[in-house]
Amino acid sequence: MSAPAPVGARRPWSLRTQIAVVFGSLVSVVAMLLSLAFGELLKLRVQQEAAASLHMVAHNAARVLADELFERSRLVQVLASSQDLWEKGLDAPDVLPLLQRMQTTRPYSRWIGVANVQGIVQTDSNHLLRGQSVLDASWFQAGIKDLYVGDVHPFAALASRIAPSTTGETQRFLDFSAPIHRNGETLGVLGLHLSWDWARDTLESLRPAYADHAQIELFVFDRHGELIYAPGGRIAPFVALGQKLPQTVPPRVTGRDSLTMPGQAGLAYWNDAPQQFLTAVEHLPARNLASDLGWSMVVRQPKAMAFVGADSAVAKALAGGLVAALLAALIASLAARRLSEDLNSLSRAALHIEAGTPGAVVPQAHSTREVQRLSSTLDHMTRRLLTMNEAMEELVRQRTLELEHANQALERLASSDPLTGLLNRRGFDARMTAALALARRSGRPLSVITIDIDHFKRVNDSFGHEIGDNVLRSLAYQLKARLRVSDAVARLGGEEFIVLLPDTALEDALQMAHELVAMVGGRPQELVGRVTISAGLSALRAQEEDAGPMLRRSDDALYAAKTAGRNRAQAQA
Ligand code: GH3
Ligand code: MG
Ligand code: MG
Repeated sequence: MSAPAPVGARRPWSLRTQIAVVFGSLVSVVAMLLSLAFGELLKLRVQQEAAASLHMVAHNAARVLADELFERSRLVQVLASSQDLWEKGLDAPDVLPLLQRMQTTRPYSRWIGVANVQGIVQTDSNHLLRGQSVLDASWFQAGIKDLYVGDVHPFAALASRIAPSTTGETQRFLDFSAPIHRNGETLGVLGLHLSWDWARDTLESLRPAYADHAQIELFVFDRHGELIYAPGGRIAPFVALGQKLPQTVPPRVTGRDSLTMPGQAGLAYWNDAPQQFLTAVEHLPARNLASDLGWSMVVRQPKAMAFVGADSAVAKALAGGLVAALLAALIASLAARRLSEDLNSLSRAALHIEAGTPGAVVPQAHSTREVQRLSSTLDHMTRRLLTMNEAMEELVRQRTLELEHANQALERLASSDPLTGLLNRRGFDARMTAALALARRSGRPLSVITIDIDHFKRVNDSFGHEIGDNVLRSLAYQLKARLRVSDAVARLGGEEFIVLLPDTALEDALQMAHELVAMVGGRPQELVGRVTISAGLSALRAQEEDAGPMLRRSDDALYAAKTAGRNRAQAQA
């Protein structure tokens, strides 16, 4: 059935493997494409969320700083415009305790004091600058006109007298000042120096709890893009590297609405590191004109850290797709198993039928309509072939039988005499051979009688050849009828007959010969009248090898009977 594959030829894959591979790769490709697209989408979402949360940190910090700047400026303004306080002059006894109370209740206020219009400090909270001139200080010059908030700056005169910042940096200060009026007359300026530690502690407190782990850092840049705050007091290294307010680009291709939201974070290079940072820039919202210092709150996070979930999202989606593909291949393989099992059982059945295994039939397969049709067609075909085969075998059996009959008839024809139906010489020889063998083995006697019609030439001459033939046929019939079935009668040619008598001794044979002679002579033939015969006999001698001598003696005896006057039988032992 299945012809062996030629040497070197690749064995084809099984149907099941092929289906599994085709489906598996198909689903793999689709799953891979979907996973990539889905992963990209997920990545985008993660990036957007990272940017949004970073921006939220910047936004909150900016708002808190702006609020506190505004609140400090309002405090100075309210204090400066308190008519009652300044009723008795800038150095009245009430003033100092109030300023001291103000300083203690407002953390980071390092110095609160008042200077007269000449710029001489009249009263100050910690007696550090009393009597000194602040005429050149910008807080004094601006503050005498209106409410003033001055940007962060070092102030050596004050810094040298108070403890340095906990970060080791030189103390820097923010100035708040406002003019003191009484009855429309300007008396002087109220000034407040706020330690820059305020910004550090406020921003530290605003950093989210995960900021360290997430490497989120907060920076403040001033109106001119100069760095004024860096975490951990590391401002100097950044300044040395020439770090300015970074310019951000959106994290992805622009043109997507979701990514070009105002205030959204973007990617930027910083001078201290080769990698990009996700960077959120938020300008401090102005609460009033004086406190609008034009600062920018900047929050940064290393790009790799910010988008850490993004790449793993793609990887996870791909892994999911791969698992889906493997599952699909497995399911396809399971589905194909039924089909391939059916085909295998069909091919096994075909092998059994070919080998002629009894009872082998084509099984009815059900996995698919095509296989069902194939199996029933094969079954139908097989049954038809088997029926045809049986009919063919029957025909062959019949033909063989007919041939055997024909052969037997031919054999009979070849060994019989056509005129009389008796054995001919060939048939007689065969019987003689068999009888000789039997006689020799059993030691039983065997005799022959040679018979010749007397003056038969005269019959032919007187009545014609055809009548002569009738006489021959009649004589044959008489002889056959008289003898035993086990005896054999043959016509050796012309009007000469021979009788083989197995199991018969010479005396008995002679007796039989007399009877035959008498029988023929005693029954006149139709038209011809009385016909006689002469007979010569002999018997097998023990030492004789074959039939030749016995037949010759029989002939001799016949000759003797003819000579002695015919119509008689004579024996020669
Ligand atoms: P005898 O008593 O000496 O035997 O004399 P006979 O005439 O019988 O012997 P012979 O041998 O002289 O003649 C035999 C005759 O038998 C010759 C022939 O006409 C006849 N004969 C031989 N074969 C056939 C045959 O097949 N049909 C017929 N009708 N006659 C035959
Ligand atoms: Mg003769
Ligand atoms: Mg004769």
